[in-house]
Amino acid sequence: MYFVNGIRLTSENVIPQRTTHYGLLRIIMPILTTKDINLPSPPAIALRILEAVKKNDASFLDLARIIEVDPALTAKILMVANSSFYSMASQINTIEKALSVLGLNVTKNIALSFVIAKEMAFPVDGGFDFNYFWKHAVTGAVSAELLAAKLSYRNEDLFVSALLQDIGVLILYLCRPDEYQQVLDEKRVSGRSILAIEQRVFGFNHQEVGAELLLEWGLPESFIETVRHHHGSGACPEKLRMQIDLLRWSSMLTSIYFGLRSVEKVQQLKAEICPRYKIKEEDIDLLIDEVAEKSVEILSFFEIDPGDMKPFSIFLQDVNEELRRINLSYEQVVMQAKQARQKAEELATELLEANIKLREMAFRDGLTGLYNYRFFQELMDRELSLCLRHHLGLSLMLFDIDHFKDVNDTYGHPVGDQVLRNLAQLVQSSVRVSDIVARYGGEEFAVILPSTDLTGSKVFATRLRRLVEEMETVVNGTSIRITISIGLTSYDLTQKSLDKTTMIKTADSALYKAKHNGRNRVEVAMLPA
Ligand code: GH3
Ligand code: MG
Ligand code: MG
Repeated sequence: MYFVNGIRLTSENVIPQRTTHYGLLRIIMPILTTKDINLPSPPAIALRILEAVKKNDASFLDLARIIEVDPALTAKILMVANSSFYSMASQINTIEKALSVLGLNVTKNIALSFVIAKEMAFPVDGGFDFNYFWKHAVTGAVSAELLAAKLSYRNEDLFVSALLQDIGVLILYLCRPDEYQQVLDEKRVSGRSILAIEQRVFGFNHQEVGAELLLEWGLPESFIETVRHHHGSGACPEKLRMQIDLLRWSSMLTSIYFGLRSVEKVQQLKAEICPRYKIKEEDIDLLIDEVAEKSVEILSFFEIDPGDMKPFSIFLQDVNEELRRINLSYEQVVMQAKQARQKAEELATELLEANIKLREMAFRDGLTGLYNYRFFQELMDRELSLCLRHHLGLSLMLFDIDHFKDVNDTYGHPVGDQVLRNLAQLVQSSVRVSDIVARYGGEEFAVILPSTDLTGSKVFATRLRRLVEEMETVVNGTSIRITISIGLTSYDLTQKSLDKTTMIKTADSALYKAKHNGRNRVEVAMLPA
């Protein structure tokens, strides 16, 4: 279980419900800003290109002027126009000519691809390799384009849709690097679907994030909806069916070069496409080879090193050659590969678990396993900004064990520790998943109750007080009982402002009142109006 599961972001699908009203990105924003990560705005030149094309009377000249401001971009577009991709009869040496031969939309899409891939390529950072991401994306786009041509399907937007289909992955990584790294680790180790893991960790997936980003960037709706459904799971708009199928198949084609179990993927691809379109299996083999050849060419325009990407048939030949050379039986090789993979998987699992533990330790209190004081402060910031932004209530409860010193004095410190652990468990099991329980100090605890008003939190506080009263900690046959005093405060939207310090102070004053008025009771203090 990841610590992020404790953050309300992931629980009870709070986020997806709200997205329909506010837009996903705006929801992530308050959380992001606490980490000083801003969502990328669209590259300026991309905006100008989009604006120019949106105008009904956009002329070739308008677009040419925008593109020609950037000589590097101009050069790249001309390279593509003259590449084997289009096999033009005559040399294209100006943007105007490219526009008239390729058309406005195609030229626009080529320009957008370059601009976005360039602006969103960052140096390798931690575990995420942006170069690899774009290499994968460009190969996907090339695959989609080639496959569409093979199936005689024309769609000028396909290349960009394919290129940007996984942009949500990039955004999620940029916004939540630690959690996203966990998603990638888990995917690698477990082989589970990335959508399912994202859904569990964040409450939404990269399809939605990508679609929201393109929406904010003002890209046409067909792009947005294609990206939103590119995995082809669940319901998708019927008119986009072909585009989405092509993206799915292009992912399979790409993963022949990037993923594991390539031969299986080749078979799967053939099984899906050949009978449906009456295409020979050999033609798919040729297409697979062509993906590598064309990708190497197109990648160079993107200034991405293609590494040792070579046609799959050549790769297979090389492998066979190598097998003969080392003179091992096929079974031996398979066995060795299997053992190596098992070992790698075991190591990866151990590493993943160790990483999770390490991350957890930074946020959790060692004795009780609850969130620690430092993380409580961070979570309060998040909850307050979510609450203000979305006009929701919020309650905060502080409680402290009554006469706890006596427990320590009578039974000893280790027994006191046992009581604290027992109490922590009871509280954690009594709250809703969206509530946040933290150890605030020695024998003092805090519970943040999001979307909960005073009436609701009073009911909960009273119930908890009773549960603690009934709780027994049995040590060496002796039963130890404790009580707690609870201080409560609520933000009910009528207050003009809300800040963390005031809220904590107010709850603390209520706790003081509870102690003063005889302990084992719940008291409320109101926030300043
Ligand atoms: P009150 O009802 O006024 O809260 O009385 P109290 O005795 O609980 O209050 P006081 O603040 O005087 O004492 C708190 C005690 O909690 C003293 C301290 O040793 C104990 N304590 C704090 N942290 C731990 C811990 O981690 N383990 C144990 N066993 N005891 C702890
Ligand atoms: Mg106490
Ligand atoms: Mg105390």
